[in-house]
Amino acid sequence: METIQKIPVGVLGATGMVGQQYIALLAQHPWFEVRYVAASPRNAGKLYRDAMAGRWQLSSGWGPGVGDLVLEDANDAAAALQAVQQGRLGFVFSALEMEKDAILSLEEAYAARGIPVISNASANRWNADVPMLIAEVNPHHADIIPIQQKARSWDKGFIAVKPNCSIQSYMTPLYALLKAGYEVNRLFITTLQAVSGAGYPGVPSLDIIDNVVPYIGGEEEKSELEPLKILGTIRNGQIQPASAPKISAHCNRVPVVNGHTACVSLEFGAKKPSIEEVKAIWSSFSGLPQELNLPMAPKQPIILREEANRPQPRKDRDADKAMAVTLGRIRPCTIFDLRFVGLSHNTIRGAAGGGILNAELLKAKGYLG
Ligand code: NAP
Repeated sequence: METIQKIPVGVLGATGMVGQQYIALLAQHPWFEVRYVAASPRNAGKLYRDAMAGRWQLSSGWGPGVGDLVLEDANDAAAALQAVQQGRLGFVFSALEMEKDAILSLEEAYAARGIPVISNASANRWNADVPMLIAEVNPHHADIIPIQQKARSWDKGFIAVKPNCSIQSYMTPLYALLKAGYEVNRLFITTLQAVSGAGYPGVPSLDIIDNVVPYIGGEEEKSELEPLKILGTIRNGQIQPASAPKISAHCNRVPVVNGHTACVSLEFGAKKPSIEEVKAIWSSFSGLPQELNLPMAPKQPIILREEANRPQPRKDRDADKAMAVTLGRIRPCTIFDLRFVGLSHNTIRGAAGGGILNAELLKAKGYLG
């Protein structure tokens, strides 16, 4: 049987909520193998297993050898370059939670050393030459990578990012409607976001048990603006954001561990599909070409539930490797045209799983490995 040489990868922020998901999801990955882990200077120098004692949040474990890796300081891009030279590192997933400017320059420091960065952080999302990828929606935005590399005189390094986890529950359904030829003018969205979205240790238990917090710093702006970049076009060496649809978002933190819900009202342009047409568009949406055969890609990116009380985080967040978006309560809207509820797993589809899928896409396009 042919043995496939796996690409050695690193996880920056390997001790955090998203970092742990990367480590767990990559444990059995057929193309990538975790050989480098990094966190803050507080944990640098510790064995990964020691740093994670009492902190590991997941029911599945890490891959062989990962517990024995020594955590590096993620601020030390030179150490990562050394790992590249020793054949222990091909590219990094960035799941850092630090001050925005610090992440921005740190991710650039890795890319400048020839190390591709697949990031979950928001710091680089609004650079016009950085693709903000949802693999099923805008894979063609990867075409900006050679432009980014040339403009910054980077050789093999580049930065590609994922959007915020809050938009995942409505972005793919929105795109499927646009792709089917229906204009969407306006979206009115209320999110109910899980506590794991705030990282670890995150929201204090006394603030969230028996409660709903109607504010998540910066989240409404991200929910309203990031879809426009994802729907944008590459022009004059930049990703120019789309001008529509207009989005109004209310973002709430709720006492759910994993799974972001979005209640959405949507207004079409002049041409309006029936509810049955909408359901047909969503249930037949295939996203990426099957022949790409990306390991993390869901078989069906959008799953419809007909029960009146679904989707629910506990019952639906893990659908199709926790990579599918589950939709339900699809019905007419008395103010706009259409209402539905969307749900996705925030630390998998909305973070580590989405990042791994982006890396698989970029490998398939020849940018990695
Ligand atoms: P988290 O649980 O707070 O983890 C943060 C990670 O960053 C830890 O590994 C931490 O290392 C490291 N870190 C903190 N300060 C550092 C410093 N000064 N230098 C180097 N490393 C440092 O956060 P998270 O929820 O995993 O989020 C990680 C990133 O993903 C954030 O940018 C977040 O916005 C984004 N994101 C999160 C989600 C989600 O659902 N949670 C979804 C999408 C995107 P130590 O353990 O050593 O402190």
